[in-house]
Amino acid sequence: MDSKELVLVIDFGGQYNQLVARRVRECNVYCEITSYRTPLDKIKEMAPKGIILTGGPNSCYEQGAPSCSKELFNLGIPVLGLCYGAQLMHLVLGGEVKRADHREYGHTDIEIDNTTALMADVPKNTTCWMSHNDYISRMAEGFVSIAHTDNCPVAAAQNEAAGLYSIQFHPEVLHTPEGTKMLYNFVRNICGCKGDWRMDSFVEESIRAIREKVGNGRVLCALSGGVDSSVAAVLLSKAVGKQLTCVFVDHGLLRKNEGDEVEAVFGPNGPYDLNFIRVNAADRYYEKLKGVEEPERKRKIIGEEFIRVFEEEAKKIGTVDFLVQGTIYPDVVESGLGGESAVIKSHHNVGGLPDHVLELGIPKNLVFRQPFPGPGLGIRIIGEVTAEKVRIVQDADAIFREEVGKATGDWIPDQYFAALTNMRSVGVMGDERTYDYAVVLRGVKTIDFMTADAAQIPWEVLQTTMSRIINEVRGVNRVLFDITSKPPGTIEME
Ligand code: GLN
Repeated sequence: MDSKELVLVIDFGGQYNQLVARRVRECNVYCEITSYRTPLDKIKEMAPKGIILTGGPNSCYEQGAPSCSKELFNLGIPVLGLCYGAQLMHLVLGGEVKRADHREYGHTDIEIDNTTALMADVPKNTTCWMSHNDYISRMAEGFVSIAHTDNCPVAAAQNEAAGLYSIQFHPEVLHTPEGTKMLYNFVRNICGCKGDWRMDSFVEESIRAIREKVGNGRVLCALSGGVDSSVAAVLLSKAVGKQLTCVFVDHGLLRKNEGDEVEAVFGPNGPYDLNFIRVNAADRYYEKLKGVEEPERKRKIIGEEFIRVFEEEAKKIGTVDFLVQGTIYPDVVESGLGGESAVIKSHHNVGGLPDHVLELGIPKNLVFRQPFPGPGLGIRIIGEVTAEKVRIVQDADAIFREEVGKATGDWIPDQYFAALTNMRSVGVMGDERTYDYAVVLRGVKTIDFMTADAAQIPWEVLQTTMSRIINEVRGVNRVLFDITSKPPGTIEME
């Protein structure tokens, strides 16, 4: 029989649950995510070596909140509860969970009992990423607290004899610097997984699986010009070559010159073996977006128009057997398709491939391009989108990228861009009153795009960028800098 070691992640709707799975896989342990609704018998059948309960948006003591059976904790399988999962574990086992007077949010200092197996090799004093309103006010019987913060007496707890562990913070996000170690301790030491599962077989397996699935079929791939769909396109082209047609929709919401850049890589003069079609649809998009201000509607319109353009292209090609789109985990999670998560924003291109396909050997400059959202500048222009606003934000963004590109240093953001606020304000230029738009500069430091801090861009860089934008971009008389972290902000504006 299959002897693959499995850790099961039970999904209670946390924003970071895909990351939990990813961290487990990084410990070379195979991992699957399943809904909290999965019947206990099914879980037993899967015979996991460990179970992790994720965070979630609900309060576990509320009527109708996602729950789990008490028996889950009696299977003889180690269980680790994270945040909501931690609270639920204590509640179900007879402890008490309450709304806290002080919600804890963001980086938090923590003191840890590092003599425990879960916290082995973790420094006694470290920081963790908190995101909760509720807290464990009384632990379930048999548990002892093994970590606390100023406001949270039970930041981690264990009932070692029963193999039960709870962590109130989020070890899965990289803002908890020691988090990966804690998860490693759990899956490798406590659950006893050997760690013989390997990620690098993923690409080969994917290519083989795609070939098998596609057969002689024709594949139409939606190429938006971003990293995600580019990776999907390359993976597909490696698998099925010219059976693949990539449709690149220039929706008029791309960064400056980006359409031509994408064509240079994927077009007939580029290195890949595939069919490439560029559709110039800017006018069509601007028409559809006329008068639309609400962010979700804008996203929906842009997404729907995408599908429509594909349908038209598909008809021209004749028979198309498969439609492909690429995306990354955070987008899947934020669209609420990752299982139980609350919808933060809808992404029109979910349903794609995991992000570790970056092992494909695609040219570096393509892979390490800044991420760019499917709806493009459409969501970096707050309010109504017009050709004029697109021009402003394209030019301002190009200047910002140029200035950051000239610089070096640890502060260089992982993603940065200019966006257009829908705000106009009064200024003075050449002794004359102006009443023009404000551009906002945003730059973030992040590894996984699930959490992020504003990058500390040096003053001189900001200042040069500001004066160039004001001087070179018509229609702008003010430049702002966004210092919001994610959460509570998102990286993009809408
Ligand atoms: N909703 C719960 C709370 O606010 C759990 C939060 C979480 O899992 N991130 O405490």
